[in-house]
Amino acid sequence: MFNHLSPTTFLKFYKQCEHRVYLEKVREVLSKEEYEKNQTMAMACGSAFDIMVKGALNRRIKVNEELKEKIQERNKAAIQLAKVLFECYSLGSLKTLKEEGIGFGSIDQEIVLEWDEILSNPPIQISEGKMEITSSTLGIKNHKSILYGMPDLTLKTGEVLDWKCQGMFGRGKKPLRGYCRCYLYNKDNHMHGKDLGENDSDLTMEEIQEDWAIQLYLYNRLLGHKVGEKLRAGIENVCVDSDNTICCASYRNFISRDFQIRIERAFHDAFERLSTNKTEQPCATPYRCITYGKLCPVWAFCDSYLGITKGGKEKL
Ligand code: SF4
Repeated sequence: MFNHLSPTTFLKFYKQCEHRVYLEKVREVLSKEEYEKNQTMAMACGSAFDIMVKGALNRRIKVNEELKEKIQERNKAAIQLAKVLFECYSLGSLKTLKEEGIGFGSIDQEIVLEWDEILSNPPIQISEGKMEITSSTLGIKNHKSILYGMPDLTLKTGEVLDWKCQGMFGRGKKPLRGYCRCYLYNKDNHMHGKDLGENDSDLTMEEIQEDWAIQLYLYNRLLGHKVGEKLRAGIENVCVDSDNTICCASYRNFISRDFQIRIERAFHDAFERLSTNKTEQPCATPYRCITYGKLCPVWAFCDSYLGITKGGKEKL
């Protein structure tokens, strides 16, 4: 039985494949162990970094125990890389973050997300030979869905923060525009970092990275944010460039009202369609079915994938 939707699952539904979420959540075809088998090195490194940061901010978090529990044996090498990233991050960004003031975090939340959507359908009126559009409210639709998740942390000012590690494996990653500070660490400055200062920090979070804005918006909803109110949130992004430069960029950006309404509507739509089994017909493509080099874990249950690959015997 489908009972709640987390920000990460919603993102998968909204951006990747509705049918995959349907198979994973509604039919519960995978056990927890099977999911864990799918942990990639990049995922392991991101999780290990997350644990280290949270351990540095909250002494009650037992870092070694958490690493043992959350990082699979075959991915242990990722812990070493995460340590290097964390060392650099601690030199500049973490210090500045502490100066901003830490609020609280890492608490599971489940809430009923309610939203009264005002349905307006502006009728066209003709007056004195001219066409005029007047806005008139025709009704209110009450949405109710269940959102579940764990915001990473909030600043004292109430802004939700999330950490993202990128580029550790593969072709590398440069920080995106829109940051309020960014420290670089390479062989010339690995002891202290080089502060690049601000870069387009007036961009909205959705202009910088839509996925970040979606997750942060929903984390804020978990903490009681009202749809459409002024909203600012933060990302701490650690990325490794192709020449092994480590970049620690901090973002503190607004999420626009229009974007909030769009995501709120899409979330309720996703919840309703998952609850009533009305998700779209799947269409297997390499882009959709293969993420970070890993095949969708529910391919064996997906008619579209099985059809296109002759029961999984051919390549997609
Ligand atoms: S195999 Fe592809 S199309 Fe099928 S559920 Fe997975 S991601 Fe979707």
